[in-house]
Amino acid sequence: GTRVDEDLLAGLNPEQREAVTYRGQALLIVAGAGSGKTSVLTRRIASLLRNKEAWPSQILAITFTNKAAGEMRERVHQLVGDRSQGMWISTFHSACVRILRREAEQFGFTRSFTIYDSGDSRALVKRLVKEHEADAYGLTPSAVQGKISKLKNELADAESYARSANMNDPAERVFCDVFGAYQRELQRANAFDFDDLIAQTVYLFRAFPQVADVYRRRFRHILVDEYQDTNHSQYALIHELTRPPGSDGGPIAESGGMMIFDAPATEEAASLTVVGDSDQSIYAFRGADIRNISEFERDFPGAKVVLLEQNYRSTQNILSAANAVISHNFDRKDKRLWTDVGAGEKIVGFTGYSQHDEAQFVADEIEVLHKGGVPYDQMAVFYRTNSQSRALEEIFIRAAVPYKIMGGTKFYERAEIKDALAYLVAVANPADEMAMRRIINKPRRGIGDVTIETISRYAADEQITFRDALGNASDLGVGPKIQAAIAHLDAVLAEASDLMLPASGELPPPTAVAEGLQLLLTKSGYYDALRASRDPQDEARIENLDELVAVAREFARNNPEGTIVDFLTEVALVSDADDLEDASGSVSLMTMHTAKGLEYDAVFLTGVEEDLIPHRISAGEPGGPQEERRLFYVGVTRARKRLYLTLAMTRAQFGEVSVAMPSRFLQEIPSELLDWRQSPGDVNSRGGTQSRALNARRGSAGSGFGGSGSGRRYGDDLVPKSTSLEKFANRVPAKVRDNGDMELAPGDRIRHDDFGEGRIDAITGEGAKRVAHVRFEKVGMKKLLVKIAPIAKL
Ligand code: ATP
Ligand code: MG
Repeated sequence: GTRVDEDLLAGLNPEQREAVTYRGQALLIVAGAGSGKTSVLTRRIASLLRNKEAWPSQILAITFTNKAAGEMRERVHQLVGDRSQGMWISTFHSACVRILRREAEQFGFTRSFTIYDSGDSRALVKRLVKEHEADAYGLTPSAVQGKISKLKNELADAESYARSANMNDPAERVFCDVFGAYQRELQRANAFDFDDLIAQTVYLFRAFPQVADVYRRRFRHILVDEYQDTNHSQYALIHELTRPPGSDGGPIAESGGMMIFDAPATEEAASLTVVGDSDQSIYAFRGADIRNISEFERDFPGAKVVLLEQNYRSTQNILSAANAVISHNFDRKDKRLWTDVGAGEKIVGFTGYSQHDEAQFVADEIEVLHKGGVPYDQMAVFYRTNSQSRALEEIFIRAAVPYKIMGGTKFYERAEIKDALAYLVAVANPADEMAMRRIINKPRRGIGDVTIETISRYAADEQITFRDALGNASDLGVGPKIQAAIAHLDAVLAEASDLMLPASGELPPPTAVAEGLQLLLTKSGYYDALRASRDPQDEARIENLDELVAVAREFARNNPEGTIVDFLTEVALVSDADDLEDASGSVSLMTMHTAKGLEYDAVFLTGVEEDLIPHRISAGEPGGPQEERRLFYVGVTRARKRLYLTLAMTRAQFGEVSVAMPSRFLQEIPSELLDWRQSPGDVNSRGGTQSRALNARRGSAGSGFGGSGSGRRYGDDLVPKSTSLEKFANRVPAKVRDNGDMELAPGDRIRHDDFGEGRIDAITGEGAKRVAHVRFEKVGMKKLLVKIAPIAKL
């Protein structure tokens, strides 16, 4: 018998206790949002350690983000102290990188391989599509990249795909060529793309059973959070790791996805615990497969299943809304979340005239909540698409609401950051020609495409790397100026290399990465070129590079023995949910995808409109609207006490204003749960509030918005009517103004509330879709939907 210290179980309900204490080969915990899945997983790890049933090194726990991994490690540490050192708690990608770094030499890579992010693979695919003239067959780089990614997630490699593809179709033939070339280029560059990290680890285990056995013997307890979002290759990886060590031969058959294994092995397989909620599966577009959960019992016969139904996060009103919405998905097991914390406040609904109006309401409510004692970092604002954050940010800045954008910074996608990292890669992995190509003329050294091709050919002829070819500048047959430039770059890289990768085999000093980065940016002339520039953006670029150096210093503090390769790994695996900045003291802004697994006292779900949530692109995809409903469910269930659902009647995006309609998901929420501060119905029936709408619009143009704020108390001046959900049902487009019959012709002059005066260049479309192409004196060309644009004829 096992004995778990009582304090680890204190406060847990019977099902949760069972999930922590059950000991058997396979355990599936299925439960709705906020029912303690992640908490139970954490306690389970703690109990294994506390009872000395496992060494920390025998535990492999998989989380969905690095941030979640950090939190789980922290939590286990709180529960068991230093006994937690040495566990692997990480994402699938990080775990695979660690394995690949150890084993890469088994199959023709070195330990210092580069990890290509999706921008890097896009660049490579683009070059190959061009070389193969694949666009002539309608193959765009993004389509090719998407298809390669999908195939890799299904564990199809270039050869196996080519065998099954229809080679009579020329487009398929070219695709296969590009796919094959892409894979060869990666191998040549000693690089893996994101999908490879998982897929190649699976191949490694399958090709080298004795290597796989090392990990099977090591990891005796494997735990996976958010199992509903695993894709096929991740599923296969888990299967490889949970086979009995020494069973060698592998599955003797694979039929309909079911693995049939060889004769029983003598050694025991690792124990596997997975937790998940099929209602929160939101990554089907990346290949996630809910069936991984629904078929768990078939894959692991005898698996124990624990259901958790009590929710500890949200009020009953919030849960009832979540339950009501998700019950509209078909093909799901009905489960009812309940809580004993009481009904709580009603869910607040608000419809703005524009997204600025909506954002102003959110900012105002945040201030009200904050004055009422809710800390800023206990509030979050969610949206479906990143582009929605701009209007919110504008208003938050004016209203002085402290905020942080989670995952939206895309810091590592900035050109100057990619350049700096390419310099580091050029040092760490000399075989990576793409990194070399990226930096060879940055800053400008007069090295053009012709010289690059010359170097590339020379390298191929001499069978050396591109990087080594630089060392032979005098043999390249290029002019003296270019020769000098190449020799200089070569010397700078060599100097950085000596600093960061001492040949003596001794460990470089902990600050080597930061110092080496400084050295590269300074001696290459990169910093100087930015300083000499008159472009104000270049100043921001210098700041960003300084920030990267600071990140490298921070890395050295946290990993005193970390190498340049470790640093590049960490940077490459930063995901959307891993904010760079400390979000304490600020309201968090993020997409609904990023919000998975998190919780806040107050949540604002914004842009609750058709075409946003459910998103337009989901409409045509099989299962699309259902996945959008799950995404909405994820958003709603992040809220502990207060939930706001807001929308706007018109939304300006990409210079065009369109009329928005309330999301169908709003209709699915029982009306008694909602308290409309301002419903679409109110807005439609109130001509008198037009001036407020205009104020909000002027605000967007930057003239005196957010002044005294007098009278802008939505709850006061707009008495909530009985909810006007019937109007939603009719899907009457909200009307701000109707210029439907305004007679306009090219040459007419008009005035726009935001853009000022302008002249019509052309009119296209008809009826409600009539669009005026207007050249404004101040802002240039804009396309306006005549019917609703705030314009007057002059
Ligand atoms: P999600 O589906 O969103 O990932 P989850 O099922 O992983 O949610 P947790 O995040 O583990 O749920 O738990 C939700 C909240 O409930 C957390 O604040 C957690 O601390 C709390 N909680 C879980 N179990 C209990 C319990 N038995 N007593 C009190 N609070 C609990
Ligand atoms: Mg969780």
